[in-house]
Amino acid sequence: MQFHSFNLLNIDAHDLLTILEYQQSRGEKITLNHLKNAIAKLKSQRAPLITRFAPSPTGYLHLGHLGHILYLWTIARAVQAQIILRMEDHDQTRCKPKYENAIFDDLKWLGLNWSNQSFQKGVQGSSFRQSDCLEMYAFQIQQLKNQNVIYPCCCSRKQLQDRLAQKPANAFNSELAYDGFCRDKNTTSKNAGLRLTLDRESIAFEDLLMGKLVQNPHEQCGDILIKDRNNNYTYQWAVTLDDLRHQINLVIRGQDLVASTGRQIQMQRILGENLPPHYLHHPILTDSAGLKLSKSTKATSIAERRAAGQSAEAVIGIAAHAFGITDNNSPISVGEVSNLILDKVHEA
Ligand SMILES: [Zn+2]
Repeated sequence: MQFHSFNLLNIDAHDLLTILEYQQSRGEKITLNHLKNAIAKLKSQRAPLITRFAPSPTGYLHLGHLGHILYLWTIARAVQAQIILRMEDHDQTRCKPKYENAIFDDLKWLGLNWSNQSFQKGVQGSSFRQSDCLEMYAFQIQQLKNQNVIYPCCCSRKQLQDRLAQKPANAFNSELAYDGFCRDKNTTSKNAGLRLTLDRESIAFEDLLMGKLVQNPHEQCGDILIKDRNNNYTYQWAVTLDDLRHQINLVIRGQDLVASTGRQIQMQRILGENLPPHYLHHPILTDSAGLKLSKSTKATSIAERRAAGQSAEAVIGIAAHAFGITDNNSPISVGEVSNLILDKVHEA
């Protein structure tokens, strides 16, 4: 089985605990107890919890996504959170309708439900599809322009890289901190993107699994790009606005996105929201080289497996095993995987 070569970052994937025992760079372990505490904390909240599953239709879902799905649906069930399905197709140069259709088909085939049932395949004009919300993103930019916190920027990544004379730090952090080159230039080029000025401040937040984290977005990314030079709204801009308008108060996502959290909190503040959502960043599946599973690491898509006649339970069984939830890859449903995880959590 090719999947046996996948590691959960640094650890043996054949133990039930490994889904949670992710050795972080800070040297702390995430254990079943962390998950138990996270669930207890979320259950003690008065407000009804709303989380989201927000894939980008830039390719087919694969086992890495399925691991995320197992976390998301399990935790949401444990804390009775609503799951909003959102299509993050802000980048029109990379997103394709065939991928969006496949995501809907995959979710149905896997037996998964979402709360915003009005959002279905082929429904146009939905507030849950980013490409249907371009006017809203533009309107919010206009609001911020009036506050003088936005400026045009023509810099390419190459130009910035040359100025900084540095290379991206690692595979999960390929970004460069923007140096403010265009801030006072008042560029009028048609090919300019837009940046939002970020104050130099540290943002502290409590991750439900990783504990207290402190980030300084200005040092990480500098003034943040909210619209790129191809006229696409960026992930950071779209997701920040979407989480606000969809009233998301629980963000469950992979640890590859943890670096985005401080800046999204900072952007929410600029937009007038001072109460950030709860955040839970979970371990992700990587290949044997430590890279996130993706098309480029040749992860077989769920759609391909579905087309090849595999059952949903067979595919879930492979993912559950790769994530170390089960000790073999026997067929299993999402509900059964959730039961296994939650039983272990209760025993912890
Ligand atoms: Zn610039």
